Amino acid sequence: MKRRTFLKTTSVSGLACALPPFFPFPTNDEYTTEELMGKAKVELFGEGINLRKAAHDSFLEMKKAAYSAGFDIKIVSSFRDFYRQEGIWERKYLSYTEDERLSPLKAIDKIIEYSTIPGTSRHHWGTDIDIIDGYPKASGDVLVPGKFENGGPYEGLKLWLDENSEKFGFYLVYTNDPRRRGFKYEPWHYSYAPISIPMLTAYRRLNVMKLLLQEEFLGIEHFTAGFVRTYVQDHILDINPKLL
Ligand SMILES: [Zn+2]
Repeated sequence: MKRRTFLKTTSVSGLACALPPFFPFPTNDEYTTEELMGKAKVELFGEGINLRKAAHDSFLEMKKAAYSAGFDIKIVSSFRDFYRQEGIWERKYLSYTEDERLSPLKAIDKIIEYSTIPGTSRHHWGTDIDIIDGYPKASGDVLVPGKFENGGPYEGLKLWLDENSEKFGFYLVYTNDPRRRGFKYEPWHYSYAPISIPMLTAYRRLNVMKLLLQEEFLGIEHFTAGFVRTYVQDHILDINPKLL
């Protein structure tokens, strides 16, 4: 049985306007709340690519250029809807609380080192990708920072992306800046800025706490308004400043 009994505080409504809005593009009205939370059916392009049209087209251009430089960009993960993220969240929550016997709050802290709360993932937008180089042999988990540096199998691709990805509109989201809070360094996660910047602008207008109150996934009864406020500031907004 799932229960949701939130701790009530007075500042829930302050979430949506915690930071001043910035409008790099003229309109953001085209994105619905359902779409921003991964609950809408959006049109995605490319088998195994699954991105919005412009992001898909630019990804193919980048892939072609990388190919000429000797790299085979492979997408490990792109679009994930709310329900997929909910499955990931609940699997981790159960594993940390039952197998590792962590307290609910410790389990949640551990999940959000790398995984998002359902409804808050950039992977819901059809603009973000996790990528590796398909050529080198690699064993075990591919999405670990060490594989992208210091002689790791994807070091060459990472150096190429550092030089070239922004020409195609793809920006690293969770950079290696030691002052950055929120998600840890993810050298594999890129975002197509021309679409994801206006989507983030639209997302910032949502009242995330109020929206999460309507959900029932495991562990959500431990979310407080303060926790969600900090999560939004650190995990959603403390990213590569070029994507704000
Ligand atoms: Zn990712």
